[in-house]
Amino acid sequence: LNDNIIVLGSTGSVGTQALEVASHLGKKVKAISGHSSVKLLEEQIRKYNPDICAVLDEKSASDLKVRVSDTAVKVISGKDATVAAINETDARLVLNAVSGIAGLRPTVETLLSGKELALANKESLVAYGDQIMQLANEKNINIYPVDSEHSAIWQCIGEGNSNDIKKLILTASGGPFFGKTAEEIKSIDPKKALIHPTWKMGKRITVDSATLMNKGFEVIEATKLFALPASKVEVVVHRESIIHSMVEYIDNAVIAQLGNPDMRQCIQYALTYPRRMDGLTEPLDLFKLKKLTFAEPDLQTFPLLKLAYDVSEKGNILPAVMNAADEVAVEMFLQDKISFCDIQEIVERVTLETKVIECSCITIENIESADSDTRTRALSLGERINHRR
Ligand code: NDP
Ligand code: MG
Repeated sequence: LNDNIIVLGSTGSVGTQALEVASHLGKKVKAISGHSSVKLLEEQIRKYNPDICAVLDEKSASDLKVRVSDTAVKVISGKDATVAAINETDARLVLNAVSGIAGLRPTVETLLSGKELALANKESLVAYGDQIMQLANEKNINIYPVDSEHSAIWQCIGEGNSNDIKKLILTASGGPFFGKTAEEIKSIDPKKALIHPTWKMGKRITVDSATLMNKGFEVIEATKLFALPASKVEVVVHRESIIHSMVEYIDNAVIAQLGNPDMRQCIQYALTYPRRMDGLTEPLDLFKLKKLTFAEPDLQTFPLLKLAYDVSEKGNILPAVMNAADEVAVEMFLQDKISFCDIQEIVERVTLETKVIECSCITIENIESADSDTRTRALSLGERINHRR
């Protein structure tokens, strides 16, 4: 097998770091993709020389075509471009770092193509996790987690027996509003919510870290990746983000994975597994750190974490609905149309008002239509809230 890779969402926070890691490891990046960041895509084409660049937005694609007409790259565009990039490229692995539910089709198409999958896009597992894991199983394809907590758990489990696991312990930084009351976070503006204490990430996931919705998604992501119920996934606030997560075994031994908070480590492990190579991350200085702290999450102030546990148990289309409502609400919050607390209200109300589908086998079309219905409902609730302001 060759060692070429494809990086989807290459212009994002994870995507740009993935290109950096790939170049550090000497891997050839055969295809990249983005939504509309034309300037950055041009830079990446000139630097990494991929065969194919998929651009979702048609207008951005025509703009890019003109800019890179002196290079050999093939720019493709539209809804099916990402799928074409996956299928037309000779690569061993696809790293999916697209943000949002837009990453779902690329995840499924990667598995159908027989290529290995390094998965940063947690939304695909949240919305359609059972079917994705089943498909990976049938096709005998490895999914390598990129999300730091799940990468940590994967590293903690190693070759161990997962039947011996008592629980997974997901660490959470607690976000910028840890320790605040519901009253205190009411009037927070987007600028404050976009400051993350330990990780530097895309806008949506940064806001999701502030509401703890992100941790809720990660609980669901963990239940899918490691085939455990949500009742066996515990969340612990760990402000320093040095322990990236832990596994507790039935003999009460707890294995943890530590490191400086730097996504390049998680990305690199997904690309070098089962081996390790020298990395770009700063080594951990325990003497400088001195101590690590732990606290219980405040579910009163941050109810979306609690909602994610309930939704995880109920399954059906509800995880996809919760995600769609959150995508819309976060976007409206970033546009200053609703307040920080309204995100919680919209996600809760829209999710709880959802009628589940009476069918045991949910298809990707069911998920996509639930996603688009939810967007309409969340948007109209958001507009109503906006008028009230
Ligand atoms: P960013 O917003 O920084 O980047 C998103 C990427 O996806 C960009 O390349 C963007 O292109 C592309 N994109 C956006 N919308 C679409 C679309 N509709 N179709 C195709 N491509 C699209 O996100 P992050 O890098 O922060 O996050 C990516 C994923 O990784 C998310 O699922 C997130 O939850 C997960 N993750 C991120 C972590 C982090 O540290 N950032 C940590 C753990 C997980 P363009 O630039 O042109 O808009
Ligand atoms: Mg994470």
